[in-house]
Amino acid sequence: MHVNESLVQDIVQEVVAQLHISESAARSRGVFSDMNEAIAAAKRAQSVIRRMSLDQREKIIGNIRRKTHESAETLARMGVNETGMGNVGHKILKHHLVADKTPGTEDLKTTAWSGDRGLTLVEMGPFGVIGAITPCTNPSETVICNSIGMIAAGNTVVFNPHPQAIKTSIFALNLINEASIEAGGPDNVACTVDKPTLESSAIMMKHKDIPLIAATGGPGVVTAVLSSGKRGIGAGAGNPPVVVDETADVRKAAQDIVNGCTFDNNLPCIAEKEIVAVDSIADELMNHMIQEQGCYLISRDEQDKLIKTVLTPKGLNRKCVGRDAKTLLGMIGVAVPDNIRCIVFEGEKEHPLIAEELMMPILGLVRARDIDDAIEKAVWLEHGNRHSAHIHSKNIDHITKYAREIDTAILVKNAPSYAALGFGGEGYCTFTIASRTGEGLTSARTFTKSRRCVMADSLCIR
Ligand code: NAD
Repeated sequence: MHVNESLVQDIVQEVVAQLHISESAARSRGVFSDMNEAIAAAKRAQSVIRRMSLDQREKIIGNIRRKTHESAETLARMGVNETGMGNVGHKILKHHLVADKTPGTEDLKTTAWSGDRGLTLVEMGPFGVIGAITPCTNPSETVICNSIGMIAAGNTVVFNPHPQAIKTSIFALNLINEASIEAGGPDNVACTVDKPTLESSAIMMKHKDIPLIAATGGPGVVTAVLSSGKRGIGAGAGNPPVVVDETADVRKAAQDIVNGCTFDNNLPCIAEKEIVAVDSIADELMNHMIQEQGCYLISRDEQDKLIKTVLTPKGLNRKCVGRDAKTLLGMIGVAVPDNIRCIVFEGEKEHPLIAEELMMPILGLVRARDIDDAIEKAVWLEHGNRHSAHIHSKNIDHITKYAREIDTAILVKNAPSYAALGFGGEGYCTFTIASRTGEGLTSARTFTKSRRCVMADSLCIR
């Protein structure tokens, strides 16, 4: 066998990654066999964190950012190896984004009134120990992003991660606790159990020391958290449509849509999941996607095979979620070259590969008569999740009408969906988008409670 230099480099990187993984598994911080113990340890750590200055908390956050950069490739490889989902290169970028653009203590703002009767402040104070449930689609990205925001706000956190991503989540938790210790903070600022189950999450949801739960995942977990009797932040499922109207730069729209849809093999909940295109530009859009953007047009027969492969009577076939287009096509016996990155076809909005949230690089195009018809179809396809939607248009009346009707937490105009996460767009990053409960893109301030601090008749020096 001819062994070239890049193959040798890949092997060395893999061995180094594996060494990191086994080293961390041997001495993972914040991991307990019992959920009650994990919560008790996080509670002890919170009593230390709440007495630390904002400056000290910021040192912990700074260390988390640096360590996330240092371990981005290891975390990306672990995530792909453990879950079988996603793309290593894109996951590295996601970790850099989390490290650079998740807000820290600067996100906490004080409101003040002063006058004849003194000075009143409203401060953003910590809740205590927050419970967090995280998905397998962005496992370490969500653990790190949640931890930065929650710790910045003076909380500690106990995770019940997705069991399919527990090793990757534990690696991330170890990194966070080491970051705290190196900054002079406590161990166990972020904890978990080594075998997360529905039982361990039920213990968390009922525990007297957990006042707030942040759930990032599908409809089941969000409903469970919102029924728990605790305050819940519900970051649920989406099925983001992207509308393209006759005023759009159609060629750029094709590029942006395929870039957004294929990012990390369509795992992000904000990613374009289907297109609704106005009839007059629909063929042009499809041609650009096929000719210039590495899209493969599947026949009716191939659509039927794909439906049977990716959807089961119980829902999504997990072996297909987060797989690349070539692998998915291989599963139905279609061989394509390496440059194929997305599967496309035209269908009605009720087509199962269009109406379902697939989290795979499969893009169905629904044809609309005009913008009003397009908006109506897109609203139907979003299923009332109020999560994300996108549009390519230069007509501000069309954009405004769409934004009002679809009423989502995120609406990206004339860019790939990931611009919403601060990647090629303004604004901060989060991997927990509270669609169901309305907080939108979460950050440190989301994990605080409002506390009024009143000084009567003094400290007004106007
Ligand atoms: P999932 O719903 O299968 O699992 C998410 C988490 O919830 C896991 O930790 C799982 O163990 C737990 N869980 C599931 N059902 C539960 C229940 N009844 N009680 C307690 N815990 C339960 O989702 P997934 O496949 O890991 O992630 C993909 C889904 O998450 C998609 O629907 C995607 O849109 C959504 N998501 C949303 C956001 C957001 O910010 N809104 C971010 C990422 C993913």
